Amino acid sequence: MNQTVEELSSFLSHPQKIIITMHRDPDADALGSSLGWASYLIKKGHEVTVISPTDYTANLRWLSGIEHVLVYEKQTDQVKCKEKIANATLICCLDFSALSRLKDLGRIVEEATAPKLMVDHHLEPEHFAKWMVWDTYAAATAQLIYKLIKELENNAPVTEIFDIPMAECLYAGIMTDTGSFRHGNVTPEVHLAVADLMLTGFDSSRVHRLIYDNAPLSRLQFLGYVLSQKLVVLPEYRTAYMVLTEAELQKFNSSTGETEGIVNYGLQVENVVMSAMFIERKGEVKISFRSVGTFSVRDLASTYFNGGGHKNASGGRSEQSVHDTVATFLNILPEYQQELLNVD
Ligand code: 5GP
Ligand code: MN
Repeated sequence: MNQTVEELSSFLSHPQKIIITMHRDPDADALGSSLGWASYLIKKGHEVTVISPTDYTANLRWLSGIEHVLVYEKQTDQVKCKEKIANATLICCLDFSALSRLKDLGRIVEEATAPKLMVDHHLEPEHFAKWMVWDTYAAATAQLIYKLIKELENNAPVTEIFDIPMAECLYAGIMTDTGSFRHGNVTPEVHLAVADLMLTGFDSSRVHRLIYDNAPLSRLQFLGYVLSQKLVVLPEYRTAYMVLTEAELQKFNSSTGETEGIVNYGLQVENVVMSAMFIERKGEVKISFRSVGTFSVRDLASTYFNGGGHKNASGGRSEQSVHDTVATFLNILPEYQQELLNVD
């Protein structure tokens, strides 16, 4: 046991009032790791409240415990969130490492007096937490939660610690953050963790179906439109990009969930090693970047688009118009050309 785990173990040997929160627009890793951790802590006799800064996509509504998640952005939940945070004895921050990723909730968490535990795998963390379980080598925060729970339980057999719903939550996070086990972040540890979790007996194919084969027809129609009309490929930069305006999103009646993951399609084009998607929504431009191999989209996202993330999957935001944001992107491409051409 390392010192952090030892200290946590001793802290958690008494009943605590625990908040678990995750990054805004939470994905399956953010919510899955939070709900898996919550189930474990509840089993251990703690009082646990899970708070999401914003709403989440419909294909995550089956995750166990999600019905109790408070959404800070909702007027009806906000007072309760503030009260729970004020009374908390521990705040767990999962799948993010900068408080700005919590949107308006960031200030409340920053000012809270309770000690904080960060569990995360993003690059370059802020140092706001008393305890940090931070490993950029991990493919998912859910993988780190699996490992942390195993350590806290002195490596007891998985079936003595995890039940099926908990294992499903963690599996969902690992499966999605590895792109169903095909990204560069897949390591032996990923498969060993998943193999162990599968000993609980859950149906991994069902989890895949619930997340990926569970979209409204409008999402597929929207995807068809984007791929046929909006995907631009720049072979000289081995780059693909897509730009979606607010008007187009409205035309397809598209919710946040319907654009999720579409950026990855750019990488399916032969020879392309970077894909970017620009989405104009609620007066700002949300940008998603994906890359393969040695090319780091995180550097590009943090240098030019107030963002960050991982080497091969990053995001950012811009308050400029969508037109100007894309112009910035096109202008900086020559600076990265050699690096893009060098990717294996
Ligand atoms: P996505 O494109 O799926 O929204 O995000 C890809 C990755 O980049 C995720 O790991 C996410 O946490 C990170 N990310 C997305 N948007 C931002 C942002 O605005 N700031 C930072 N620091 N990271 C982001
Ligand atoms: Mn993650």
